[in-house]
This record gives sequence, structure tokens and C-alpha cells, in this order.
Amino acid sequence: MVASEVRALFAVASRPEVVSLAGGMPNVSALPLEHIGEIVQQVIAEQGATALQYGSAQGDPVLREQICDVMALEGIDAVSDDVIVTVGSQQALDLVTRVFVDPGDVVLCEAPTYVTAINTFAAFQADIRHVAMDGDGVIPEALEETLTRLAAEGRPVKFFYTVPNFQNPAGVTLSADRRRRVLEICRAHNLLVLEDNPYGLLRYEGEAMRALRADAPDNVIYLGSFSKTLSPGFRIGWALAPSAVRAKLVLAAESAMLSHSTFNQMVVGRYLSTHPWREQIKDFNEMYRERRDTMLASLETMMPSGTTWTRPEGGFFVWVTLPEGLDAKAMLPRAVGQRVAYVPGTGFFASDEGHRNMRLSFCYPSPEEISEGIRRLVGVMKSEISL
Ligand code: PMP
Repeated sequence: MVASEVRALFAVASRPEVVSLAGGMPNVSALPLEHIGEIVQQVIAEQGATALQYGSAQGDPVLREQICDVMALEGIDAVSDDVIVTVGSQQALDLVTRVFVDPGDVVLCEAPTYVTAINTFAAFQADIRHVAMDGDGVIPEALEETLTRLAAEGRPVKFFYTVPNFQNPAGVTLSADRRRRVLEICRAHNLLVLEDNPYGLLRYEGEAMRALRADAPDNVIYLGSFSKTLSPGFRIGWALAPSAVRAKLVLAAESAMLSHSTFNQMVVGRYLSTHPWREQIKDFNEMYRERRDTMLASLETMMPSGTTWTRPEGGFFVWVTLPEGLDAKAMLPRAVGQRVAYVPGTGFFASDEGHRNMRLSFCYPSPEEISEGIRRLVGVMKSEISL
């Protein structure tokens, strides 16, 4: 196990004078804190004896039922027994890897992919292989070609990990056409899909997409989370999995943590049943849309020629490709010296790629800070180019 580059950056990037375009922290200041405080008191007053007791490793049945309502927004028809609550979707990533991966097994990921997923797969000694992406998500032909090659080499592939909506870090979304193709290819190769979708409901324009799980319940393990649509502080996520897989995930969860925080689950459950949570997500989306628009407009007006970037329809991230000759990782200390931080692209690959890339997030800083951050970043890039 090695420390992730993002975590190491947090200490520097959180200094007040630095505009951080690095971390993907949701902007929880928009939450109705007073109402959440009342909910906490009600849970203790009315359900205290249960809330302060051990619960089950599969999770509170009432919350699992409510998660099915959230899932319906992504086109998924699930029942509460399909759901296992997890400590954020991060724990689901860990449990799935624990259950499926033996040292040396191949795990397929998009290129680039979520840094902590790479770290989790690596902790179980997976052989991580990347599949190319473009602006419409993973390229089906590249997936097919990789699977055929690995089959010829006699290498078992345990699953294909994908973040289909507003991907972290690339910001791109898998098109409807490609969703069908990816499912066909994975079915033909008898390959499980691990669909990680923490950002799906944070859409600022365009049509909502059906989850992969909606059309292939037997082939897909779906990971969801309340971290971005409510708060990461509750640490509540979930997995939907075919029943045989789910049974193993529950056993793995029992040995990892015995039971969930009953209290946190009840607070989130009461929030969902007493607060207009769909409206809250709309409010979040308005706030994030303004920040995304500011970032894209700032990039458009200020970036030197030869720089390209993605245009996310939702989520938190823009993926920038720097002009030839610039190295985002080498440049970072100079950028921090100029009071702006980002995440270099190299952390999002298991292989030595991403030197000309950076991930910029627009979720946390204000619109004014975002344009000031881009101004500082462009200043650093220009002085590197003229060196
Ligand atoms: N998957 C992806 C793609 C993420 O971006 C994140 C959060 N950064 C997670 C999983 C983990 O989220 P959580 O554990 O808070 O649900």
C-alpha cells in the first residue's frame, strides 16, 4: 500500500491562501443543518434504544427500502433485499475486491480511473489493466480487444470497473449506445461489471442516463453513495448485487466491521422520509452548475493554446491535457507556490501515464475563487512554457 497523491496534497491545499482545485469535497454548506439537528434529536428521543444498539451487516431494512426509491431515479428496479449498505461506496469497493480478487488476477479499469479504486485493487495485488476512453467514455472496441487478448493469454479477468457518469477524474459520461455495447461485450465474455456511480444524480444539463445495472441486473454490481447527494460525513453508501454475490459481500462486511452505525442509518433514513431530498439535490445542482460554468468559461478565456479539457455535464471534475512539454506533476510545487493546487494526472493510472494531465475540481471553491485559481494556474503554465 502506498499513500495516494491526493491525500498527501490535502495538507498543503487546505492552507487558506491556496485556491484548491484539487480535492473532490462536496459543498455541504448548502445542507439544511438546522433540520438535520432536529432529526438527530428525534432519532434519539423516539428510537434511541434501537439507534444506539448493534445492527446487521446488510444494513437497516428501512434504509434499504428507501435506497430502492433513490435507485428508481436511475432506472433501476430493485428490492430491499438486493441492497447491502456499506461505509460509503469505498467500503463496497473494498468488499468486492476482497471477495473476488486473488493476487495476480486481472482487473480492468478505464484510463484514467478513480485513484482510490486503483489503491484498493493494488492492496489486493490485482494486475490492473487500463482500457482507453474518449469523450464518450470507455471505447467498446478497446474493451473487446483487451478481453480477447487476455483470454488468449489465459489470464482470468475478475471484473471491469467503470464510473459511467461524470467520471472521476475525466468528467466524461458513457453514451447510451456504448452502454449497450459494453454490456453486450461483458456478457459475451462472462465478465462482471462493477458500476460505481456516486455522481449520477448531479447532472447539470442533458438527459439522465439509465444505469448499466438497470439493463443487466445479473451481470452488474452497482455501487451508490449518499456522499455527494447528502453528506460524506454519514459514511453511507450501498451495493446492489446478484444474490450469490451479495451473500458473500455481507459475510465480508461482518468480518470487516460486524455491523453498521445504526444511528447514522436512522438519521439518513429520517432525512429521506422528512426532507424534500429531491429538491435538495436540485439546489446542489444549481450551485454546482454555476461553478462548472465558471470553470469552463475561465479555461476558455485564459488557457494558452495547445491546452484541451473535457466539458462535464455533471459531477465535480474537469480533466485537462497540457501543451506538449509541460509536466503537471513536476509543475505542482510551483503552482502551490503561486497559491493554486490541482491533482496531477499520474495518480489516476496504474501505469506511468498522465504526466500532461491534471484533474481540476469545481465543487468546493466559490465561482470567484475558481476564476482566480485558473488565473494563477495559467500564470504558472505560461512561465513554464517560457522557461
Ligand atoms: N467512487 C468514486 C468514483 C468517487 O469519486 C468516490 C469519492 N471521491 C468514491 C467512490 C467514494 O465515495 P464514498 O465512499 O464517500 O461513498
